[in-house]
Amino acid sequence: MRVLITGGAGFVGSHLVDHYLRRGDEVIVIDNLITGQEENIGQHIDNKKLKFIKQDVCDVTEVKGNVDLILHFACPASPFEYQKYPIETLRVMSFGTYNMLELARIKNAKFLLASTSEVYGDPEVHPQKEDYFGNVNLLSPRAVYDEGKRFAETLTLSYFRKFNLSIGIVRIFNTYGERMHSEDGRVIPSFISEALKNKPLPIFGDGSQTRSFCYISDMVNAITKAAQIDYPMPMNLGNPAEYTILQLADIVKRLCPSQSEYEFLPLPDSDPKKRKPDISKAKKLLGWEPKIGLEQGLKKVIEWFRRKK
Ligand code: NAD
Repeated sequence: MRVLITGGAGFVGSHLVDHYLRRGDEVIVIDNLITGQEENIGQHIDNKKLKFIKQDVCDVTEVKGNVDLILHFACPASPFEYQKYPIETLRVMSFGTYNMLELARIKNAKFLLASTSEVYGDPEVHPQKEDYFGNVNLLSPRAVYDEGKRFAETLTLSYFRKFNLSIGIVRIFNTYGERMHSEDGRVIPSFISEALKNKPLPIFGDGSQTRSFCYISDMVNAITKAAQIDYPMPMNLGNPAEYTILQLADIVKRLCPSQSEYEFLPLPDSDPKKRKPDISKAKKLLGWEPKIGLEQGLKKVIEWFRRKK
């Protein structure tokens, strides 16, 4: 199989690259490295089955040769980065998604969109099921990401409805693992890197907001299974175990172990208060559920950050 992974030099994308190369597939990565790093796929540099194209997907209209599967993962993903790159985020979700859908149509390839739990905004329904329309403030600075992904979902579904293109849409909930970078503002890498230096852990608001965290190997399992089935509607992927941010901070401190204190900061605009996926659809359609608990996954990531220092 020949798989095209946009955003393949990013955190999730690079783990997908590992998966398909391990299986013996050919992989093409298109990434402009706006938030990703070439070193994430550096271990495959001598592998003839990997082709790396350093380019903005908004400028890609042609790829040589056949393509069987397109995984469209290119997009700044942390609130810090998508607010730093608001126009780029909206462009990659609109022009970039359009280009990759057109390519899928021309190549007769399957197209899988990396969507997000952020399509639910600050949810009024808990846990979130796929049929919930969400509560997004389109005027908030976070909307570049939320609305960009919502548009990309609608565009993807339109290709299914108009051209009968084989599509999939996965709504990914918070995922963590090796290769996240400490400066991207996401809570797990930021807690771990500060805790290892015994520096204060930044807690936004009072830390009572909840999140659900999925370890990367579970997520790669789910995404690659979703790429194999014929199901065009959105599907939640994530780990439903729910933790408050303060609980997460306590666990990271204990596992490091660390003397860090907490630094309470103002809650950002439209920060979701609760976040927990209903994954019954993924369980039924993929025969999948996450296996790695939070402490087990955090231990691996802490070890990785420690080695990287
Ligand atoms: P990441 O920032 O590590 O990876 C994104 C990659 O896309 C980067 O390598 C970046 O350089 C590349 N990119 C961005 N714009 C591009 C463009 N115009 N052209 C080419 N490449 C471009 O983020 P991630 O956590 O790996 O997220 C990957 C995907 O998964 C994103 O689409 C994100 O929205 C989605 N997602 C991730 C999570 C999570 O918890 N990690 C949750 C929900 C959704």
